[in-house]
Order: sequence, then C-alpha cells, then structure tokens
Amino acid sequence: MKKYFFYLVLFLSLSCNKDDDNVVPDKFKFNYNLHSSLPQDWIDEFNVIMGNLDKHIPVKPTSYFPELDIYAWKSSADKPYKKQIGNADGACICGNSKERYMVLEIPESEFTYKQMHRYSVIPHEVFHAYQMGLSENFFKPDGLELKWMAEGGAASFESLYIQQYYDFNYFYDAQANIDVAVTSTPEIYESYDSNGPKDQNYASSVFMVLALVKELQKQGVSEEKAFRMVYKDFWEKNADKNNWKTAFKELFNIEVNDFYNILKDGKSYNITITDVMPSSNLKLENIFL
Ligand SMILES: [Zn+2]
Repeated sequence: MKKYFFYLVLFLSLSCNKDDDNVVPDKFKFNYNLHSSLPQDWIDEFNVIMGNLDKHIPVKPTSYFPELDIYAWKSSADKPYKKQIGNADGACICGNSKERYMVLEIPESEFTYKQMHRYSVIPHEVFHAYQMGLSENFFKPDGLELKWMAEGGAASFESLYIQQYYDFNYFYDAQANIDVAVTSTPEIYESYDSNGPKDQNYASSVFMVLALVKELQKQGVSEEKAFRMVYKDFWEKNADKNNWKTAFKELFNIEVNDFYNILKDGKSYNITITDVMPSSNLKLENIFL
C-alpha cells in the first residue's frame, strides 16, 4: 500500500510539473512585436483589427498552440527581428513543430499607395491561427495541406472583413484573377504546388471556397451557415490527409469529386468572381455565432 502511495505521489508531482509546462490558458495570447518603422496610424489600426477579430474569431488556446508571437515591420526596415526569426519575411505563420510565429512584413509601397492589403493581411494571417486552434492536424507541419480550403478560407475571410469594416470590395480588387484550371483540374489546388500564376493572391482557391458556399446554399443552407461550415465546422472535424474526403462528405453532404465535377461541367459556373460573389451585407457576427 505504502509503495502505491509513493508512486501515486510521484505520479502526481510529475504530472503537476508537466502541467506547469503544458498549461492551456483560458485565452489565447498574441505577443506583439510591432517595429518602430511602422507608422503610428497603422499600429492604431492593427490594434482595432485585432480587437475586432478577437470578437469574431477568437483563437482557441490548446496545449499544442497556446500563444503566438507576432513580428511586424515596414519592409524598408530590412528584417529588424533577424535575431528572433532569422530571414523570415513576407506574411505568414512560419516556423516548425517546435516554434511558430506570425510574420507581417508590410511592403513600403502599400503605405505609399494606401493599399488595402496593408490591413487585409492581418485578418488573413489571424484566420490561419484560428484554423490552427480548431485543428491540430492543420497545425502540424506534416498534417492536412488542402490549400484551397486553407487559403481560400483565409483569403475570402480577409475580403469579408474588408467589406464589413471598410466598405470596399477586395474580392474584385485582388481576388478576381481566377485561373482556368479551377474548371479543368481543381484537384491541383489541394496542394501548395499550385501556388504562383495559377493562384494569384489565392484567387482560384477563393473561387472554389465561394463556389462550395453556393453549392451549400443550393441544399437550403443559409449563406451565413454555409460560411460557418467552411470556416469553422470543417476544421473542427480535425481531419487528416487520409480521411479529409470522408469528413468533407459528412459535413457538406457532397463528395469532393462530385463538387469538382460541378466546377468542371462548364454550365454551373463561369470563371468569374461575379458568379460566386457573397452578399454585400453579410456580417461576420452572423457567420461566427
Ligand atoms: Zn494564407
């Protein structure tokens, strides 16, 4: 009996120590590193956007992903966080299974020409953090890739955010250059190999996500719920690269290949953003209930 008690105490103390390292906070923590090269009005807007996003898509803290460092700077500052993140640049959630961080290198020209992307990049990258909180298999470097759902989701969310808060159509502005491959070989957009001219600003991936939303609406699902299914419910299923087609069918009530065949049939959709444009009065608070 004594022996068991000893082991029990040992077990409890070990598991307590383990918990200290692995504690899941009540709230996900973003750690801001906003470089002095950034204009104050961008920093002010960044804070407003982060507050709005925390209402719409609060990132779920988990043991594998309890917090995230954000490094933001103006491109002319030339990688001021080299010590922390090496040569990472552009915009991404970068890193590996051990450490992950968000990079927001804002090109100088976006300030000069007051381009919407200097703001829209924030909801885009935070949406990826949201996906990671919902799905460990999406978080894992060798987990689920599925680019058109991952990037088409983040990029269309970015445009819905801009539509709601700036009354500006970022779908037309930046995501209208859809490649004909969406109607010939949509399956190539499952992989990041399709990056580049075939998916400029993820326009083709956005088209596929918006077409899926239209297909769900044809099943009688409301537009808001259809977006919720694509943005949230799908990732909550935590599918991996082997079973995602099953998860897709269960949730959306359509086989992946049947969805691709609708894109390919040449009758259902023209290759234009107008054909799949969401309602202009859509509100994020009605998508993410
Ligand atoms: Zn992205």
